[in-house]
Amino acid sequence: LGSKIVPLKCCGKVREMETQERILQKPLIDFHGIDEELVQKMVYDALVWSSLHGLVVGDKSVQTSGKVPGVGLVHAPFALLPMAFPESHWNLACEVAPIFNELIDRVSLDGKFLQDALPRTKKVDAFTSGLLDIHSKMLEINKKEEIRLGLHRSDYMLDEQTKLLLQIELNTISASFPGLGCRVSELHRVYRVSFATEFTVVKSNIGTCTPEAGNLLNYHGEHIGLDPRRIPGNTSVDKFAEALAKAWTEYNRPRALVMVVVQPEERNMYDQHWLCAALKDRYPFNMQSKVAKKLSVVYFRAGYAPTDYPSEAEWRARLLMEQSSAVKCPSISYHLAGTKKIQQELAKPNMLERFLENKEDISKLQKCFAGLWSLEDSDIIKKAIERPELFVMKPQREGGGNNFYGDDVRTNLVRLQKEGTQEDAAYILMQRIFPAVSPTFLVREGICHKDHAISELGVYGAYLRNKEKVIVNEQCGYLMRTKVSSSNEGGVAAGFAVLDRYILE
Ligand code: ADP
Ligand code: MG
Ligand code: MG
Repeated sequence: LGSKIVPLKCCGKVREMETQERILQKPLIDFHGIDEELVQKMVYDALVWSSLHGLVVGDKSVQTSGKVPGVGLVHAPFALLPMAFPESHWNLACEVAPIFNELIDRVSLDGKFLQDALPRTKKVDAFTSGLLDIHSKMLEINKKEEIRLGLHRSDYMLDEQTKLLLQIELNTISASFPGLGCRVSELHRVYRVSFATEFTVVKSNIGTCTPEAGNLLNYHGEHIGLDPRRIPGNTSVDKFAEALAKAWTEYNRPRALVMVVVQPEERNMYDQHWLCAALKDRYPFNMQSKVAKKLSVVYFRAGYAPTDYPSEAEWRARLLMEQSSAVKCPSISYHLAGTKKIQQELAKPNMLERFLENKEDISKLQKCFAGLWSLEDSDIIKKAIERPELFVMKPQREGGGNNFYGDDVRTNLVRLQKEGTQEDAAYILMQRIFPAVSPTFLVREGICHKDHAISELGVYGAYLRNKEKVIVNEQCGYLMRTKVSSSNEGGVAAGFAVLDRYILE
């Protein structure tokens, strides 16, 4: 109404693609043939949709955007078009989710295994040491967690050369983006209907996507020829809300609250608010910003990084929560079971047999394990110094931006060898996975970049058990993240990646 519409700039022309050494994956669409004007129109519509439907994060250029909701919002970075993903690998990732849930639960019960795997790490890593201390205290008092709630996300990359779906890591604390991941699914689902030329219904493990907005078909014509029905529906936010609510029900104190522990400044707060909103909409419990007398469930969206514990007070608070009878998501033992060191220990031959009985399950999980090594293995150190580009060096940290790649792997390994301290125990080495590279449109801060990208699939899993009764054990939707292939790290919140969906091949 008289206001000026500022034309959007698509950087396809500005930011030319880098030359890639790796073979490019055959794109789903004729990437170069897409009309520039059409792309700009699609970007514009997607940005409007994101703003109207809460696909938003705090804008880092606005000081209070991480503290005050409704202040300084910007759309979450997203991919304009879906990446291709083979259905068989997708099915595998869904199938193993409940097995991984069970594995984490079993591992968490084995206090000795957790303590024995980490003593060297404990000496050199104050943060992991803090977690282990709380864990030891719980072992000393023989603390029993009867109601056990896990909200996990297992992340994978599809190795191009071997065609193996390999696990990057399993997050047992603060698995993020169940909320915004669903929003981006919705964006693509509604939006990409407009690209369809034909419909075939594909039932995925996760759900079938219905083209509710059929009229959008006429939006952009049949220029792209993607079948939106091959984009699976996403349920992560509802399933996580349901699992939290069921944990509250099991706790069986109607006046007790669910508490969400968050960072004092969180630009990804809307992802959390989506989940809390789903919880409030469906269930009759109280949510208050003040800590009440009685808690039923403590859900951590903080506490995974050393910066979350600036003083002893935060450590004492974590201990207090662990000592309480409330359901912790995660408990200290679930948290430790998700560390990279434990991931590496579990990948050792015959280790899974210690926790799981079913041979088929064991073999399915083993197939997902990439090469993982402790730095006590001198042969592998030698190899990694010679060919650092084939490895990733990881500390016991979460949240992205902590790993070493390429020359930094060599430099750090050589440094550790020279120093001869035990600091090597703070790290693990992992085989570097090389997914296929595809051309894509990445939209960040209102600007569309045309670039080469790789994808990482995350599958959410929820587990709830009360004593011997398993109440929930299921996969709960997914998260697709796409990042520029020249970037090493892949965190959306850390600024390396965008949210995506994929289309089954
Ligand atoms: P964090 O807990 O900090 O998310 P990750 O293990 O997920 O740690 O590593 C962060 C990112 O680094 C991943 O999202 C992925 O993009 C990249 N990455 C991690 N491990 C590998 C690997 N083995 N091969 C290739 N990329 C990796
Ligand atoms: Mg992680
Ligand atoms: Mg990760």
